[in-house]
Amino acid sequence: MHFAVLGNPIAHSLSPVIHSYFAKILGLKLSYERILVAAPFAKVAADFFAAGGAGCNVTVPCKLEACAFADSLDDNAAAAGAVNTLKRNADGTISGFNTDGPGLVLDLKRLNMLPDNARILIVGAGGAAQGIVQPLLNAGAEQITLANRHAAKAVKIAAKFASSSKVNAVSLNTLNEGQAAHLARHHYAKSFDLVINATSSSLQHMLPPLEPLILQRAGAAYDLMYTPQGGTIFTRCCTELGLKHCADGIGMLIAQAALSLELWTGQRPDIAQAIAYLQRYLQGRA
Ligand code: NDP
Repeated sequence: MHFAVLGNPIAHSLSPVIHSYFAKILGLKLSYERILVAAPFAKVAADFFAAGGAGCNVTVPCKLEACAFADSLDDNAAAAGAVNTLKRNADGTISGFNTDGPGLVLDLKRLNMLPDNARILIVGAGGAAQGIVQPLLNAGAEQITLANRHAAKAVKIAAKFASSSKVNAVSLNTLNEGQAAHLARHHYAKSFDLVINATSSSLQHMLPPLEPLILQRAGAAYDLMYTPQGGTIFTRCCTELGLKHCADGIGMLIAQAALSLELWTGQRPDIAQAIAYLQRYLQGRA
């Protein structure tokens, strides 16, 4: 079985490391390579499948083109408008999936961070934020608030879920003002069950402009970003504010890969074991 990850740039991708480890612990025979998408995505993907590829992961900036390339889409890919997993079916057609959001949900459940009927704040309104809304709704979220610096982007995503009436959008400024006043008045009130940082602020070693009281009164906080050392500027800030349940996105990275492998082979590797391995690998200890 031959697999690959397609993107540009691609040299930094950890997917081959993760899938090789999965193959080892599951006793699967597979090869997994990085493919730089230097030509139109549809050509590179068509060549990969013509050469016998069984499936591939797709990363930045090709997830939208992969959506157009697929013959069919699962619900999550359709809602996200993006595909991170392609699979060749027995009849030669190509199915597109998005395992990013389901990977996040799997990790949140593993960490006991997703209570029933959760009220969730998603900070950010980029590709990652859009991709996690439908899976969180599927997992039983009662209310999802999308807050972004530029509110229009959050409003656009929320509009896609207008029929559920469970998704609303605000600017970060409006959220800060409204919540700060409410939380200051009600000393024991919770802000959200879960705050997800879906911005790329941690990549810039910055915090999203979020009122500290909102984090302090949250049930848990999760940053989609991760670092080799474990934790991000965001999770460290939450810990310092006294939040007991904080995690970075390494588990999401592993879980989305595990779900891709399951789609291709029917087998799901142990996620906690793979996270521990990847942490050792990133720290140069594996
Ligand atoms: P995009 O570039 O599509 O979106 C970036 C978002 O971050 C925008 O909403 C932007 O707001 C916001 N933003 C950037 N800087 C700041 C800041 N300093 N303060 C507040 N908001 C800020 O990125 P993606 O959605 O693709 O990715 C977001 C993050 O998720 C990245 O860190 C990425 O690494 C991570 N990720 C992790 C995955 C995993 O498996 N663990 C999978 C996918 C993504 P505005 O619109 O106002 O500019």
